[in-house]
Amino acid sequence: MTSDFALSSPLVPRVSEKDAKALQYIEEITRNAATFQETVLAEILSRNANSEYLQRYKLGGATDRETFKLKLPLITYEDIKPDIQRMADGDRSAVLLASPISEFLKSGEQKLFPSTQEELDRRHFQISLLRAVMNRCVPDLDKGKGLYFLFVRPETRTPGGLLVRPASNSMYKSDHFKTRLHDYTSPIEAILCADSFQSMYTHMLCGLLEREQVLRLGALFASGLLRAMRFLQIHWQALANDIETGTLNQKITDPSIRDCMARILKPRPELAELIRMECSEENWEGIIARIWPNTKYLDAIATGSMAQYIHLLDYYSGSLPIASMLYSSSECFFGLNLNPMCKTSEASYTIMPNMAYFEFLLHDPGSPASTSDFQPPKLVDLVDVEVGKEYEPIITNYTGLYRYKVGDILRVAGFHNASPHFHFVRRKDALLSIDYDKTDEADLQKAVENASRLLREFDTRILEYTSYAEKKTNPGHHVIYWEILVKDPANSPTDDVLKQCCLAMEESLDSAYREARVVDKTIGPLEIRLVKTGTFEELMDYAISRGASINQYKVARCVSSTSILKLLDSRVISKHFSPSLPHWTT
Ligand code: AMP
Repeated sequence: MTSDFALSSPLVPRVSEKDAKALQYIEEITRNAATFQETVLAEILSRNANSEYLQRYKLGGATDRETFKLKLPLITYEDIKPDIQRMADGDRSAVLLASPISEFLKSGEQKLFPSTQEELDRRHFQISLLRAVMNRCVPDLDKGKGLYFLFVRPETRTPGGLLVRPASNSMYKSDHFKTRLHDYTSPIEAILCADSFQSMYTHMLCGLLEREQVLRLGALFASGLLRAMRFLQIHWQALANDIETGTLNQKITDPSIRDCMARILKPRPELAELIRMECSEENWEGIIARIWPNTKYLDAIATGSMAQYIHLLDYYSGSLPIASMLYSSSECFFGLNLNPMCKTSEASYTIMPNMAYFEFLLHDPGSPASTSDFQPPKLVDLVDVEVGKEYEPIITNYTGLYRYKVGDILRVAGFHNASPHFHFVRRKDALLSIDYDKTDEADLQKAVENASRLLREFDTRILEYTSYAEKKTNPGHHVIYWEILVKDPANSPTDDVLKQCCLAMEESLDSAYREARVVDKTIGPLEIRLVKTGTFEELMDYAISRGASINQYKVARCVSSTSILKLLDSRVISKHFSPSLPHWTT
């Protein structure tokens, strides 16, 4: 086990006392990962010994690892949904945990997780460490600001009166966040405005006004940054108009934003002219570096399903580094990327061993042991995972989850001191299946990437995609919806090319798919349905109108809801089918 985390190397910028403390803290907890894990588990079990859940499994006050593993089952959300529902309905007894909960954190998948102020503080503290990690890699970040596209969602209450919101809402409303506001171009009024259009408009306007101070552009996920770029493409004229006249667009009606912008906005015709000049250019390649010339990096998670946006972000930014800083979810804060300026495809996250008790379930699709009912699942502790192997994390946290299967697949990249760091591989569930085939998110992404190579000579990019297992046809087949960006309509890909794209996707899918398609003929030709520009934007608006959070939103890579399919199908401009069978050999 090695530590590559030099605090005093002559090659890294000098660290402030505050940053040195933060870095030292990371060193200490990762060095003592095993001890922290043991202490965390004992603390969680002793605090909650009287909870209904632990009593249900007759833990009898035990706090040791062996009894815990023997008595408690591995669970998914469905297993504790009735308990969570009772808590949401107002049962204040110690159902899952002993301490009173302060709110429910709502995940992008609309699951509710109990939380406490103590847990939120613990998370905020971890997030505060990110700055020290970044300062170590990029000097002088305190000499400028960040243009961050951060959003809150409207908050709701459960029937029992408890607050329900995404974890990001809690973060942006925390005292900790207030102390960092001077780092951002956006005023708090823009972040806390629940109307996503007004919020985005104000973020962009403030970012343009302070273009020379901006040293980094960020959003929670890469998709959020791209959304911001598309917003600029649509609204730059209105924004430039506001900057020229020093008045705020009438569409911005939120009184607190209007008040605050009245103090900030002054007529700046030269800046407006510059923005018009840059944005009216046909070619938006490198626009970020032109409008915000001092940007040193982009700050947004671009791993997992977000990896497909890297090429578009590269396009807009002129290939600035993309820092994927953290791995976190509504259930748990997992870890930090301690080498954030590495290539995005190499980003990995070091688990913080004081955040929860972590176990890892070996994910080995080739081995029956990982799924069999007869063999015990292969579970290891945090410090015992093996480099190169893939696992699903199982967490026991301070807020009522015991041996909870997270549903992500991670690959061990190495160790930082005694704590492993992981590549995020994908969400676990298979997306598409017609017969015995199972295509997951990573397979689909690879297939789309392979097909997209055929579009290069047409200067065409795939902006978004999703899929659907069409079972009404006989045999069923995969439908892939594509929204594409054609640079030159006179040179757009023809039906033949798109048919070849279908085949390229089939060639890239796994052998089970190809066997079912070629030998058993239980799967029909793969189909691409091209949809109109803006369709995926509409999908997101639709999801948001149904309660999804703009920060957490991730395009579903497979859809099955009738209303979403109806929306997609109503925007289809052309359909293309694979012209022949893919290769298959035994
Ligand atoms: P949510 O609870 O809605 O905020 O979503 C959490 C999920 O987002 C995680 O379980 C992951 O599937 C995904 N996620 C979070 N952080 C990352 C990351 N750094 N890279 C890839 N996916 C991530």
